Amino acid sequence: MKRKPQLELLKKNYLFVEVAARVEAYRKRHPNKELISLSVGDTTEPLLQTVTDELVRKSQALGTKEGYQGYGLEEGAIDLREKIAASVYKNHFSKEEIFISDGAICDLGRLTAFFGSGSRIAIQDPSYPGYSDAAKLLDAKEIVYLPCHREGHFFPDLRLVKEVDLIFFCSPNNPTGYAATFDELQKLVAFAKKSKALILFDAAYAHFIQGRAPRSIYEIPGSEEVAIEVHSFSKLAGFTGVRLGWTVVPKALKYEGGEPINPDWKRFITTIYNGTSSIVQAGGVAALSDEEGSQKVIKHYMENTKLLKETLEKKGYPVYGGVDAPYLWLDCGGQDSWELFDEFLEKKGLITMPGVGFGKNGAGFIRLTGFGNRTTILKAVERLR
Ligand SMILES: *Cc1c(COP(=O)(O)O)cnc(C)c1O
Repeated sequence: MKRKPQLELLKKNYLFVEVAARVEAYRKRHPNKELISLSVGDTTEPLLQTVTDELVRKSQALGTKEGYQGYGLEEGAIDLREKIAASVYKNHFSKEEIFISDGAICDLGRLTAFFGSGSRIAIQDPSYPGYSDAAKLLDAKEIVYLPCHREGHFFPDLRLVKEVDLIFFCSPNNPTGYAATFDELQKLVAFAKKSKALILFDAAYAHFIQGRAPRSIYEIPGSEEVAIEVHSFSKLAGFTGVRLGWTVVPKALKYEGGEPINPDWKRFITTIYNGTSSIVQAGGVAALSDEEGSQKVIKHYMENTKLLKETLEKKGYPVYGGVDAPYLWLDCGGQDSWELFDEFLEKKGLITMPGVGFGKNGAGFIRLTGFGNRTTILKAVERLR
């Protein structure tokens, strides 16, 4: 067996390694100082009781003769798919168009494998690093980075982009914290149609939107002909460790040659995936049924984000995002990302994420998150003052 050459393209995750090294060096120098992390995009609040009750009930049922179940459908339990269709998409899609997964990132990986090598893949810059890794692994013919600047509301100027086959698009965005507007997404859909490209829309933060931005690419008319939406319970219900997500592949979606994509995806997924844990899927139904509970946790994170944002603004930092996603994108004001990272670490004992790790256009920014317990966030706010 020879080594797959594309593996060579995956650089060591320089960002996380370097952040860890600098934090470690600080700890050695200041063994008694407590550091606060505002760097990791992971949930911290406990699961809802309605969800844990259901996880327990389903587990116990599996321990009985009557309640035992073996393999489920590869594409996911019918009740969960129907619940998603109704509660997230107002029954705009049927359960045959919704596929349950063990998470958004897992399905994004499978989707890139499904579309195969040799594609031209467009990616927002800055963006979540997983997209370009997936594109490299899949031997993309070309990776086209779409520069997203503050002047353009962190939305790329699509007039400058040549033809591509696949577009990764994340809104609300990690790391900039911005949600694209209806008009912007309309431009994206028009561009995809013109370019005969397909959009892989990552909606993992959709439930965090507080303003009027679309919560799904499918709010844009005609988008079901050009877009697949990948979604997740990770941030919506704190399932980052529990693992659950879904992917919408509309029946109206077609390849350039006119063949429908949905039956291919079903065939593909039933080959390489053997279904999601039945216990976890029961927990997913419970999470979507307790909308009030889920929104309360999301409000908590968004309130954290607001506290941090207000404090940073009072200190004179230009801060973007944080309204429709729990991320703040802080302009280092001419400083390098790593310089400001070091300053926050050394002077305030705060761990952040250097923006340059998310792409060339992230240079000169750092990312902070509102994921955290309130006590920790208030401590961070105190230190920022
Ligand atoms: C957290 C996150 C997800 C969720 O991924 P899972 O695999 O479902 O945990 C997806 N996309 C982005 C950009 C994220 O930050």
